[in-house]
Amino acid sequence: MTDTALTLNLEEVRSRIARAAREAERDPGEIALIAVSKMFPAERIAPLLQAGHRDFGENRVQEAASKWPELRERYEDVVLRLIGPLQSNKAADAVALFDVIESVDREKIARVLAAEMEKQNRPLPVYVQVNTGEEPQKAGVTPAEAVTFAKRCREEHGLAVEGLMCIPPQDEPPAPHFALLHELAREAGLLKLSMGMSADYEAAVSLGATSVRVGSGIFGERPPK
Ligand SMILES: *Cc1c(COP(=O)(O)O)cnc(C)c1O
Repeated sequence: MTDTALTLNLEEVRSRIARAAREAERDPGEIALIAVSKMFPAERIAPLLQAGHRDFGENRVQEAASKWPELRERYEDVVLRLIGPLQSNKAADAVALFDVIESVDREKIARVLAAEMEKQNRPLPVYVQVNTGEEPQKAGVTPAEAVTFAKRCREEHGLAVEGLMCIPPQDEPPAPHFALLHELAREAGLLKLSMGMSADYEAAVSLGATSVRVGSGIFGERPPK
């Protein structure tokens, strides 16, 4: 894909987000576009940085560590989000590298992250990941646990919980999952909702997303692993 095609994709996604926001009577400025750059090399990411984009998501700590430190030297105001599952032995690296951690989903990782943030003096905002479809293979707390878990993260661990994140099941309409996440955030008193990917970000915007995570819709199809 050429650099121009990449920035055109970015523009197209932005304008579709703005349209979906206006249709839902929301301010398009409330919705952040997270470009999910997993599996793509730094050369593919650079044109977006050059075009002024700063919000990116990666799902693996090690992969992110191999490409972002160098990009960050050139673009200091990048905001990098961890959107994939986190193992506790990677927590130190994750806290050092990322600016937001969206995949907090169990007691142990909440505790380890809180300790690392204190140690590194980097109190990062976090999201609680909710497994809205209750899929056995997927990360996230169950919807029934979400409100209590978010509260424990704040009160027991002192984490700055900003919002909730979900990845709906692939074979179901996403809207009920987005609506559920919105309702859980309301119950938990949280303002941010990370939901919506390439296939469904407009639906997510109509249901209250404050950030959407778009990968293939910007970068094209991911290379095989
Ligand atoms: C890969 C990924 C995305 C982006 O997926 P696309 O369908 O390529 O937009 C969004 N969120 C998470 C958690 C991901 O792992």
